[in-house]
Amino acid sequence: MITIKNYALANTLEEAYKILNEKRNNVILGGAAFLRMGSKKIETAIDLSKLHLKYIEENEEDIEIGAMTTFREIETNSALKKYFNGVLPKSVENIVGIQFRNVVTVGATVYSRYGFSDFLTALLSLDADVLLYNEGRISLEEYLEKGARKDLLVKVIIPKTSRKAAFGMMRNSSSDYAILNVAVSNKEGDLKIVVGARPNRGKIAKEASIYFSKSSKSMDEIEKAALMASEELSFGSNMRGSKEYRQAICKVLVKRGIMEVL
Ligand SMILES: Cc1cc2nc3c(=O)[nH]c(=O)nc-3n(C[C@H](O)[C@H](O)[C@H](O)COP(=O)(O)OP(=O)(O)OC[C@H]3O[C@@H](n4cnc5c(N)ncnc54)[C@H](O)[C@@H]3O)c2cc1C
Repeated sequence: MITIKNYALANTLEEAYKILNEKRNNVILGGAAFLRMGSKKIETAIDLSKLHLKYIEENEEDIEIGAMTTFREIETNSALKKYFNGVLPKSVENIVGIQFRNVVTVGATVYSRYGFSDFLTALLSLDADVLLYNEGRISLEEYLEKGARKDLLVKVIIPKTSRKAAFGMMRNSSSDYAILNVAVSNKEGDLKIVVGARPNRGKIAKEASIYFSKSSKSMDEIEKAALMASEELSFGSNMRGSKEYRQAICKVLVKRGIMEVL
């Protein structure tokens, strides 16, 4: 059980960031679904709900998603259903249940860089950037690699390109974490293959993506790219599946993903 000593309803991002960094045990609250599973003793819990960070907005170039946006909003938003073959709504629709998705937030998910995350795998296939309060704007790929020190995730920015994307995953049961998840996107022949829940966090299979982007897109080349992805990325074992099992299903999910986006 978590315990919270003080509660702070932040009035500005600046104030939230300042409180966050005042003490080691001060934390930001997203939907608090993940936080409450632990036993953290929180000094001050910082609530961002007054900061207007719950939005999905489209401008000429990008789609921007505020940190406090819930997965249910991702799932039901009409712009997100329209762009990228609806890969973002598809990536969250299997996560636990609707009541749960009404609570969990984009900001917490992206900031925490969960290895099992379905949403992050899909997002990484879309050339997305993140905006952190202190660190500023960086690519999601870079953020997933290096993380950030006690920062605040403000929003996610996705360029409105012609990328078509597909999402696939393997679960033991519908409400469990994925054993593996895969997103493949295609922008006029330029392919991006992302594999997550390895069980480590989502990563682009770069060699396979480059190989396939330059190929003539034959069936043999699809098979080869799927094999390459399963060989260049590392996999591990946990209670959900062994390293070998993950590697084997990686090939299948990547192949399906490529075929879908072609
Ligand atoms: C039981 C359970 C099952 C789940 N199953 C799946 C699944 O199958 N697939 C999947 O992809 N995901 C799954 N998740 C993860 C879920 O989808 C969310 O990613 C996760 O719960 C985090 O969202 P939250 O709003 O609950 O975060 P919180 O619990 O509020 O916060 C998590 C962490 O992020 C920090 N944080 C929150 N907001 C910000 C911010 N804006 N900036 C910086 N730091 C911030 C908090 O301080 C905390 O450290 C599961 C989670 C739970 C609890």
